Amino acid sequence: MIKRILVTGGAGFLGSHLCERLVALGHDVICLDNFFTSQKENVAHLLGRPNFELIRHDVTHPCWLEVDEIFNLACPAAPGHYQYNPIKTMKTSVLGAINVLGMAKRCRAKILQASTSEVYGDPEVHPQTEDYRGCVNPIGPRACYDEGKRAAETLFMDYHRSNKVNIRIIRIFNTYGPRMHPYDGRVVSNFIRQALLGEPITLFGDGSQTRSFCYRDDLVDGMMRLMAAEDDLVTPVNIGNPHEFTIRQLAEQVIELTGSRSELVHRPLPQDDPTQRRPDISLARRRLGWEPKIELREGLTKTIEWFRSIDLRHYRPPTPNFA
Ligand code: NAD
Ligand code: UDP
Repeated sequence: MIKRILVTGGAGFLGSHLCERLVALGHDVICLDNFFTSQKENVAHLLGRPNFELIRHDVTHPCWLEVDEIFNLACPAAPGHYQYNPIKTMKTSVLGAINVLGMAKRCRAKILQASTSEVYGDPEVHPQTEDYRGCVNPIGPRACYDEGKRAAETLFMDYHRSNKVNIRIIRIFNTYGPRMHPYDGRVVSNFIRQALLGEPITLFGDGSQTRSFCYRDDLVDGMMRLMAAEDDLVTPVNIGNPHEFTIRQLAEQVIELTGSRSELVHRPLPQDDPTQRRPDISLARRRLGWEPKIELREGLTKTIEWFRSIDLRHYRPPTPNFA
């Protein structure tokens, strides 16, 4: 069935790929974005399509649309981006959630929240299962994002319990791929850019902290399956790749795949940087029949290819970052 679907943050890294997939399926797609961390180029190829519309709008302000489904992705996602204006980040998560939930309630639309593994903070439970309540520093530099996303989950659950809004919550673990902002300061974009330019590769701390990297296409596939899942799946669902790597291993793999002569240099570990992260994806496997297909080597190869194809001069560093 063809649906009218709103994607907030639809011009971003994940949002633009989601819009592309939904447009290809024939849905009527409305992409809403304020372009804080993205650019119109990400969706320029969709602009001529009769089933695609682009709206410049900030989710912290109400918006009146009639839709069947909402994917709420609007929020800066990289530490350098979300810490640039932390109060705005919190407003985007909280006011943004209230505005789109109000729309979902009025339209009786199904609505999905892009939450994050950051709700687990610096986890003491490993791998992280959805019932783990997390270890977040509520007053640290990452709190604007972590606590904003936690509050958004609360709002989603309360709109469901109080108003019967049909909700989905996806907890996304580190995802990478083509169309990441090359200056977002995230580890994959930093390392690939640095390797290709022959600049030193910046390892924060000793590089022994771990992350589990999911390729964009796998992630968006999981997100679409969650939206299509049965209506009783109202609890958060982890989506990510359970293969865990140290940040040093990631750097070594990027150097090998790019053939770069860049050297590794150490920089201080940012405050509250999680020491380990790996999703338990049993729930997604069981309820969505989902698991990732693209492993790090293949995904990095595709991402490096994309980074080689772009002209970095077209990308303005939107915020200062540490690299
Ligand atoms: P991104 O920065 O590329 O995309 C976010 C988009 O939201 C951008 O286009 C940005 O301009 C837009 N935006 C920000 N504030 C807005 C506002 N107030 N009003 C309207 N638009 C606004 O990041 P991404 O990686 O594509 O992340 C998409 C979503 O997924 C985010 O909600 C993020 O928190 C979540 N997520 C991503 C990851 C990941 O590893 N990529 C991990 C966990 C969660
Ligand atoms: N990191 C790094 N060098 C960089 C950028 C990041 O060593 O140039 C580290 C960072 O300290 C963290 C990991 O890589 O331990 C992942 O960082 P990212 O900002 O990509 O995501 P998050 O910390 O939100 O998982």
